[in-house]
Amino acid sequence: MEKEQLVRHDWTKEELLAIYNQPLMGLVYRAASVHRLWHHPEEVQVATLLSVKTGGCPEDCSYCGQAARYHTDIKVQALLPTDTVLAHARKAKENGASRFCMAAAWREVRDNRDFDRIIDMVKGVNELGLEVCCTLGMLTENQAKRLQEAGLYAYNHNLDTSADYYNEVISTRKFDNRINTIDNVRKAGLTVCSGGIIGLGETVDDRISMLLTLATMEKHPESVPINALARVKGTPLENNPKVEIWEMVRMIATARIAMPASMVRLSSGRIEMSEVEQAWCFMAGANSIFAGELQTLLVTPNPGLNDDIQMLHTLGLRPMSKE
Ligand code: SF4
Repeated sequence: MEKEQLVRHDWTKEELLAIYNQPLMGLVYRAASVHRLWHHPEEVQVATLLSVKTGGCPEDCSYCGQAARYHTDIKVQALLPTDTVLAHARKAKENGASRFCMAAAWREVRDNRDFDRIIDMVKGVNELGLEVCCTLGMLTENQAKRLQEAGLYAYNHNLDTSADYYNEVISTRKFDNRINTIDNVRKAGLTVCSGGIIGLGETVDDRISMLLTLATMEKHPESVPINALARVKGTPLENNPKVEIWEMVRMIATARIAMPASMVRLSSGRIEMSEVEQAWCFMAGANSIFAGELQTLLVTPNPGLNDDIQMLHTLGLRPMSKE
């Protein structure tokens, strides 16, 4: 039997809840065992994320400092020139990144000159030999196809949280809009990057529902980012309690067990984690991180690339090269 056929798509919520809630040491041991079966345990994908258009977003995601309606310290930045983006991509490659992600704070992609410029950026980064990923908001099938033809490898579109809790976090779009965009990305033959955020005020049940949606997709997302809420001053969630490390470890381990072939990405929130805490996340099956020369993850602080490479070295890990 092909290994891929061993991946399950028929998980139940009860099964995933039982995994999430099992005693921590047993959970991490099980997740680490799955990780070793499916991935090289010493390799960590280092992805760089650049905000190519920052702030001024019409959406109301209550965790996001880029929403125009919240009074945050974030400086609005129009779409960057293509040359500037390519210079960042070149530097990221020199520093050991194998994936370059470009993010624009848009509600949705429009068929205009800005999208044409994104297409040029995708072509340019692809020619540098990096895996190119974009996160640009909602996308039609045709737009996804144009991106695919330009050399895009992956499209990020997070579910954020459960279908039931979604309206508590965002009112300007629906959970089903997320699913539609993911479907369009799949139809265009792109790989999918989709995960969520914990610390939004959701229950464990919501967290598991979100993972269940991903783990019961016909094809699991190739990348699953697990974010801890970055509490941005001026957003409605700025005073939410800090996400405890063991909650992150449980989420990562559950994602690893439910979607064994996927890259599980330790994403936002790393700045508040010690190296020891991050090591627990790697042990629980995380095998991808975001790193950036600008020491930011979009608009929130993030460890710098050099610090990350040093941390990987200390832990006996190494950056994965592009296949
Ligand atoms: S998360 Fe994205 S869509 Fe939501 S407000 Fe921020 S930039 Fe806009």
